[in-house]
Amino acid sequence: MSSTATILEPCPVSFGGEWRQVNGVATTPVHNPSTGDVIAETPMCAAGHVNEAVEAAAAAFPAWWETPPTERARVFFRFKTLLEENFEELVRCNTREHGKTLVESRGDVRRGIEMVEFACGIPSLLMGESIENIARGIDCDTIRQPLGVCVGITPFNFPAMVPLWMYPTAIVCGNTFVLKPSEKVPLTALKIARLLEQAGLPKGVLNVVHGGRECVDALLTHPEVKAVSFVGSTPVARHIFETGTKNGKRVQSNGGAKNFVFLMPDADIENSVRGVIEGAYGCAGERCMAASTAVVIGDAAKKVLPSLVEAARAIKVGRTDIEAQPHMGPVITRQHRDRVAQLIEIGSKEGAKIAADGRGVKVAGAPNGFFLGATILDEVQSGMTVAKEEIFGPVLNVMRFDDLDAAIEQANRSPYGNGASIFTRSGKAAREFKHRIQCGMVGINIGVPASMAWFPFNGWNESFFGDLHMQGKEGVHFFTQQKVTTTRWFSFGEGDIWHRETKSQP
Ligand code: NAD
Repeated sequence: MSSTATILEPCPVSFGGEWRQVNGVATTPVHNPSTGDVIAETPMCAAGHVNEAVEAAAAAFPAWWETPPTERARVFFRFKTLLEENFEELVRCNTREHGKTLVESRGDVRRGIEMVEFACGIPSLLMGESIENIARGIDCDTIRQPLGVCVGITPFNFPAMVPLWMYPTAIVCGNTFVLKPSEKVPLTALKIARLLEQAGLPKGVLNVVHGGRECVDALLTHPEVKAVSFVGSTPVARHIFETGTKNGKRVQSNGGAKNFVFLMPDADIENSVRGVIEGAYGCAGERCMAASTAVVIGDAAKKVLPSLVEAARAIKVGRTDIEAQPHMGPVITRQHRDRVAQLIEIGSKEGAKIAADGRGVKVAGAPNGFFLGATILDEVQSGMTVAKEEIFGPVLNVMRFDDLDAAIEQANRSPYGNGASIFTRSGKAAREFKHRIQCGMVGINIGVPASMAWFPFNGWNESFFGDLHMQGKEGVHFFTQQKVTTTRWFSFGEGDIWHRETKSQP
């Protein structure tokens, strides 16, 4: 711990537009990972608090549903303006509680703003379909209606973006919402929620509660909750999906991942090395789309690996909460840093070769920060612990294969299915890869093929539980239910002018 006492930032809940501190419950510390200082304490709310939040959301629902989509969209246009005006403040808050660099935080907030831009188009997105005379004298049309109270539970690694994957779409569709941000990084989410209130969102439409398993389970079983969006690790994602669906909720649940970046012998060396380095070590590897395994094919090993190792060793690690920015910041907690270091040790014991070792990195002036340098484990085999577990830190596995077929076959055995990329100059190899790889987001000469707001964030297998993904039209479909109306009018009513006119026709 730093010797200078830090003033704790408030971490209130927000129920029905009332922001208040919760006292008398256990708390979880929020750290500045660059220094190890505690900067806030997150209250671990219980079922009673969840009831208050859900009841506030339920009370706000009827009026918000009746608000025309055009008016709802206008709130989000104002929200977008406020997000832009407060952009740098949000970025700094994000970096302070998460530890990623300012450049990375700008990306985090920007991706979130794009979700708001998407939400602004809701009048077009909600349009239904219709057909006249589907049978003689019968017309048919579809409309989309909101579900009611929706819930979002988010992870630590994108404090701004992931909550914004959820509630702008949910709310602009006419639902009301309860957000439970990660207890490790609640502060950016709170600042952003305040801005939406300033933009004119009626009280109770967005509510924020904090906590861990107890709070989440109360949300999953609450009878008023209609839908649950979750992003986090696979074991928790599975639990959320199973418990939520068992309790009759619609659930979309994103889990963990292990992503592959294929390097073909004909790949452009400079661009592919840059792609892998940014993919593996951006946000200190704490990304569900991190390029965590380089799949090196044929003599790409000879051509690319030396430059890759050199680039990894050159990555400067440091404090991100000061103006002079490093290439890479700390990881989220001391425990996580130690777990990643332990996995590197296990990898080495199981036979992987440590080509770059980030353990024991020292950062001047920050002895208590949660730092780990860029690490490369070469000659990783599929049975090793490091090949199977999501490491979620600045560690790149290298697996070597003789040909593309064998490499695709191995990658397809992964239980996950978020992303995979290929670096090549061959259209044929790229097409084959796109066709055969078993995952939901594919990159061709792109290190991190995370889809943007207008497309679904498309995990497969154990990286996603549910049917409809977040983002894009799938997001709108998740947060609405469709109504199909079939219409027939029998005879002209009495006193109907058309009736008289028709009768007078020859
Ligand atoms: P986590 O699963 O530990 O926590 C996520 C959320 O679940 C938090 O809000 C937490 O409070 C809650 N939670 C934790 N344990 C719980 C339990 N037992 N019961 C109910 N709720 C519980 O994840 P994390 O460490 O915050 O985030 C990192 C993970 O998120 C990684 O596995 C990463 O791959 C994944 N992730 C996935 C995506 C994606 O879109 N697939 C995106 C970002 C992060």
